[in-house]
Amino acid sequence: MSNQLSDRINSVTPSATLEMAAKARELRASGKDIIGLSLGEPDFKVPDYIKNAAVDAVNEGYNSYTPVDGYVELKDAIITKFKRDNNLNYEPTQIVVSTGAKQALYNVAQVCLNKGDEVILPCPYWVSYSDIVKLADGVPVEVPTSLENDFKMTAEQLEAAITPNTKMLWYSSPCNPSGSIYSKEELRELADVLQKYPQIIVVSDEIYEHINYGVTEHASMAEFEDMFDRTVTVNGVAKAFAMTGWRIGYIGAPAYIARATNKLQGQVTSGANCIAQRAVITALLESPARIEFMVKEFKGRRKLILELLNDIEGFTCNEPEGAFYVFPDVKAFFGRTVKGKEIKNASDFAMYLLEEANVATVTGDAFGNGNCIRISYAASENDIREAIARIKAVL
Ligand SMILES: *Cc1c(COP(=O)(O)O)cnc(C)c1O
Repeated sequence: MSNQLSDRINSVTPSATLEMAAKARELRASGKDIIGLSLGEPDFKVPDYIKNAAVDAVNEGYNSYTPVDGYVELKDAIITKFKRDNNLNYEPTQIVVSTGAKQALYNVAQVCLNKGDEVILPCPYWVSYSDIVKLADGVPVEVPTSLENDFKMTAEQLEAAITPNTKMLWYSSPCNPSGSIYSKEELRELADVLQKYPQIIVVSDEIYEHINYGVTEHASMAEFEDMFDRTVTVNGVAKAFAMTGWRIGYIGAPAYIARATNKLQGQVTSGANCIAQRAVITALLESPARIEFMVKEFKGRRKLILELLNDIEGFTCNEPEGAFYVFPDVKAFFGRTVKGKEIKNASDFAMYLLEEANVATVTGDAFGNGNCIRISYAASENDIREAIARIKAVL
């Protein structure tokens, strides 16, 4: 039977992180003791003050459709947050709330890209960027970076990647998967290049903003006056507030882009979940100091996993400054045959770790870097110790 699906969906690669998680679940169901370090999901409980706000919303009878772009009170809370944390001054017409930052990113691609428009993606990039771009008929243009430069794109690399077809630049800082953070100075250097190409819109994904270990201060591209009108700032509550399943993300954007995403969303999903929106008002208006306990905990785990990994010959790690992943270079293992299994590339390596060490990680190919794997340390210290000990043992 011939495949009757669209070329569009046939050209999409399934999310590698979700696939790895599914494979791990399958093996677990068959009785294997799998440690999952593949998903980017905090293992904390949602703090009580946020949970209580959701319970209150249920009891107060919030159940109707919400405004497509989000409750007015939530948009106000987002404006307050942008001003308080990022020194950004948005108007309500510039804010759109979506069902997770993922939908926000999808919306922006759909409303900004025409067929053949190029989107510059410094590698490694977040797993879904390239497929979200392809779904909008855009062309991902990968810019490789190096571990030596902490996986950051330089101004020269940006300029070399720009063509007359370049429409957008997308990056995350702190970066998933590398943990790198662009300093304000580094962003300024990129902005200086972009000044020569006024057609390029920037998507700055800042969802790990609060998960910052204090080496490089968080900075937003939109802070620069000459970039504000062409930057879409993306954020959400999934990572910093351990609210992955609540599905609330948002953008601050030029008003014409916000209006367009509002129109798109109105024909697709409508406004985001009412209870979650009410809870996020509380999450954003409370001081970020209330979630610092999670960051402290992640910091301890980062130290632990780096020590353990650096003790395995063949792993080369950068020191992540934010988020909760390490992205070690493992190419030293390529070409080796271990336990009768040939490891040709990062995918083979991740599969070897899953099958032999019962540890789920993700191949760097999914993030546009085939020399590395991504290991999440959003897991207990016990699991981290056991997982890395197992990896060491099978190598
Ligand atoms: C997790 C993640 C997202 C998606 O966030 P949701 O709000 O869960 O949709 C977007 N960007 C990056 C870099 C992420 O790691």
